[in-house]
Amino acid sequence: MNDTFPVIDGHTKLTGLLGSPVSHSISPLIHNEAFRLLDLNYVYLCFDVPEANLADTVKGLRCMNIAGFNCTMPDKTKICELIDDLSDAARMIGAVNTVVNENGRLVGHNTDGIGYMQAVKEAGHDIIGKEMTLLGAGGAATAIAVQAALDGVSTLHIFNRKGRSWERALKLADTINANTSCKATVSDLADEASLRQALEASTILTNATSLGMAPHADTCPIPDASMLRPELIVSDIIYNPKQTRLLQMASANGCATFNGLYMLLFQGAEAFRLWTGKEMPIEPIREHYFKG
Ligand code: NAP
Repeated sequence: MNDTFPVIDGHTKLTGLLGSPVSHSISPLIHNEAFRLLDLNYVYLCFDVPEANLADTVKGLRCMNIAGFNCTMPDKTKICELIDDLSDAARMIGAVNTVVNENGRLVGHNTDGIGYMQAVKEAGHDIIGKEMTLLGAGGAATAIAVQAALDGVSTLHIFNRKGRSWERALKLADTINANTSCKATVSDLADEASLRQALEASTILTNATSLGMAPHADTCPIPDASMLRPELIVSDIIYNPKQTRLLQMASANGCATFNGLYMLLFQGAEAFRLWTGKEMPIEPIREHYFKG
């Protein structure tokens, strides 16, 4: 057995990532390393697939009996129409980031929210039955909101600016209120009084906007540090930079904080589990790719 690469032979099962662009992705490093560590005969490759080519690509992969694949932008929504079934969470989110080939049936899942909820646990927190303030209503925020609601977070205070994702935020809250026991509300991110009130009642604050992400690392979704009381857990799903302005502000106020690296790791670990039926060997993967 080669120590560095998995052996590829006539039995190797194919997995991979569809999206555009994909060449920057660390998913091939993570999954191929995990396959090698568990001696699983799988390989993970990246395929640059713009949305216009997605239908043909999926048809081809289906014929080739691919074991499963990840989907990233811009393919996460369109893929829902091209596969055979969706998990409950993926149906509520309206987007898929992981597809599993179950004996010829392609089933779509969304592991982003599962990855976030696992990251909360990994950081040592229990937010089940508690209130959450969630900033953003884009793709990642939607996945987190749905999974948090399904897992038993009691109340979701969703904040977004009155812009592109506003209608999506309202629809998201309706979906959560209709399908789970979680109570979801939507407010304008510019409404500081409502934001302060929500944070007072919340156990955790989750930034799922892109405010603070490189190259705009000087931006921050919270206008006033005094909104962050020391008991509030403050998390950012951004991982570049590792310490956003929000997390710096929260740490200075004595809040427990964590960034988006573990969400990234655990959404991948869940996809790995869905494809192989095995737990990803988290520790060596974390050591190699997620330190700091
Ligand atoms: P997205 O669908 O484009 O959503 C972006 C969100 O940020 C929307 O709610 C958007 O509001 C809001 N936003 C953007 N600019 C803003 C501004 N100037 N002021 C206020 N709100 C603003 O993107 P996404 O895929 O959800 O990703 C969001 C962030 O999460 C990115 O930084 C991404 O890197 C990170 N992420 C991390 C992980 C992980 O595994 N850790 C996974 C996925 C994403 P409008 O749409 O209304 O403008």
